[in-house]
Amino acid sequence: MIDAHTHLDVRSFEDLEKMALCGIEKIITCAHDPYKMSTPEVYFDHWDRLIKMETKRGSLAGIDVKVALGVHPMGYPKEWPTLIKNLPKYLDNENVVAIGETGLHHLNEDEKDLLKEQLYVAIDYNMPIVIHTPEKNKREALVEILKILKEVNIREDLVMIDHINKDTIDLVRDIDVYLGLTVHPMKISPMEALKIIKNHNKKFILSSDLGSLKSDIYALPKTKLLMKNNNIKDDKIRDILYKNPKEFYRL
Ligand SMILES: [Zn+2]
Repeated sequence: MIDAHTHLDVRSFEDLEKMALCGIEKIITCAHDPYKMSTPEVYFDHWDRLIKMETKRGSLAGIDVKVALGVHPMGYPKEWPTLIKNLPKYLDNENVVAIGETGLHHLNEDEKDLLKEQLYVAIDYNMPIVIHTPEKNKREALVEILKILKEVNIREDLVMIDHINKDTIDLVRDIDVYLGLTVHPMKISPMEALKIIKNHNKKFILSSDLGSLKSDIYALPKTKLLMKNNNIKDDKIRDILYKNPKEFYRL
């Protein structure tokens, strides 16, 4: 199994060991806003920790940890153009597999520009990009994101739209991007993920979005068991838990 979206820097080493024991082989840890992120330097230190420390903690626990680096819409400094200018320097690192997480959260114009600039980096450097949709105003944010994707004209296979749920799945019916299903106490349950998977034939990717608040380190194995017990074909389970994230992140 591959857990395609986490924030390991705020989780314990023991969580990593437990995830390894239940068969999670690879984890992507995404840049986020663990502090106030008030200056570009805070972000640079955060990116550095993900690349050096989280990959090391992963290998000590027996998990291959890779990194997505980007600027999160929930926390970024006024001087964010400095981050965009420096981001490409990090993309050559063998542990960096994507840009993210980025996306829209408060839906203001500055945030839209920040997303566009990261999409242009993804296009220019041929990197996959992880796009967050918020818990509040999710449909409205997704409509804006879809407009922006069209405007920048990015290839669909470079994009994962994350935190899709039963209320937003209809909006992505006609596009062939990867779709993130986040099994998490504040997002969707294993049962909601199962229903979406049963009713829609899309390129789904599962993740736990482990963070500092309540999350579920067993999100993937629980959903895998539920899919098995509900007669989802083995091939389809493998696509969602392994093949799709492997393809998207080129692991
Ligand atoms: Zn996240």
